[in-house]
Amino acid sequence: MSQVLTHQQLLKIAGEFGTPLYVYHAERITEQYRRLQQAFTETNTAFFYACKALTNISVLKHIKSIGCNADCSSVNEVQLALMAGFSPQQVLYTSNNIAFSEIEKAVSLGVHVNIDSLSNLRKFGDKYGHSYPVGIRLRPNIMAGGNLKISTGHNKSKFGIPIEDTGKVIQLMKEKNLHIRTLHIHTGSEIKDVEVFARGIEVLFELIPHFPELEVIDLGGGFKVPYAPGEEGTDITLLGKKVKAEFEAIEKRYNRKLQIWFEPGKFLVSEAGYFIVQVNVLKQSGDTTFAGVNSGLNHLIRPMFYGSYHHIENISNATAALHRYNIVGNICETDNFAEDRMVAEIREDDYLVFYNAGAYGFEMASNYNSRFKPAEVLVKDNKSSLIRRRDTLEDILATQVVPAD
Ligand code: PLP
Repeated sequence: MSQVLTHQQLLKIAGEFGTPLYVYHAERITEQYRRLQQAFTETNTAFFYACKALTNISVLKHIKSIGCNADCSSVNEVQLALMAGFSPQQVLYTSNNIAFSEIEKAVSLGVHVNIDSLSNLRKFGDKYGHSYPVGIRLRPNIMAGGNLKISTGHNKSKFGIPIEDTGKVIQLMKEKNLHIRTLHIHTGSEIKDVEVFARGIEVLFELIPHFPELEVIDLGGGFKVPYAPGEEGTDITLLGKKVKAEFEAIEKRYNRKLQIWFEPGKFLVSEAGYFIVQVNVLKQSGDTTFAGVNSGLNHLIRPMFYGSYHHIENISNATAALHRYNIVGNICETDNFAEDRMVAEIREDDYLVFYNAGAYGFEMASNYNSRFKPAEVLVKDNKSSLIRRRDTLEDILATQVVPAD
């Protein structure tokens, strides 16, 4: 049984810290990491938490404390990870379409770097030659992932160097004497089918002999977690077995032992997160009942951005009969969190909880409509600590410069 925070605990936390509020459960994150470790005990695997999912520094510190590494998608994330205590060797920077100056900064900080364009690779070769090991992000031309917006490895995707350009990578490697240590792919997010990962390894399989200094195959992130009741996530145990078989085949064919890296984001933090809101207004329109809450797409954009499902419960009235609601926000665009959703009878001021709110929740929040972003709380060892205070009007004004008249 997975660790969960109960309705009573969530109600108490909401009462203490106010809403809208993100709550993260440290032990649940640990549990997910241990599951991964267990599934891959028989392979030489390292995990780099894709911290774009949730970068609060207290969460990063917790992730560091349980032995996981960090994967970053901007040089600012790299700096946050270093501030959280990760050593440069524990930090990976997998970039996409970035200025070369960010790569230079990452190199100056001593972290692992995956490069995803030929032009940056050429610049890298010109500046560093063989002196700094580098990873290559390839686009494997595999269609996978929960929806098109989170599919990154298909043949129309902007991510990575198209696999058909591998010859150009090899040419650059020779020309610039590059030290290519890693081949990386990331096919997308919410990938349930373990065969997708196996196919990814197979795509890289043939390339291995061309990279004499290769030590790492990095398969990115994208493990699916269940969002809706009854839904299933990626079978991690099966994936561990498949990956083991594929890597044994590599070892046998090429007599080379490679390390495997994964960059899980959602898998580690999604289910550890809860988003608590309060109902401002109930509104009846024909046979639709709107429950308007004190939040909106500015706090949790996933439903409007890519149609994501978040399970919602009324924790103030959990045993009441179920009714049908459209749960909506207070933003000046249509910001439906859920349509025609059966929820225990909702009254104004009730607290609702959104599950699976740990990944890409707060992280994508904004101050749209000049509203404050939610506060964040971390529950660890049964203790709830505020890890980000709620915004104030001063925060919203802090970066604004008013020119003199
Ligand atoms: N690695 C890379 C390069 C990514 O772009 C992402 C997500 O965008 C991840 C890892 C994490 O994906 P997920 O949160 O689905 O595990």
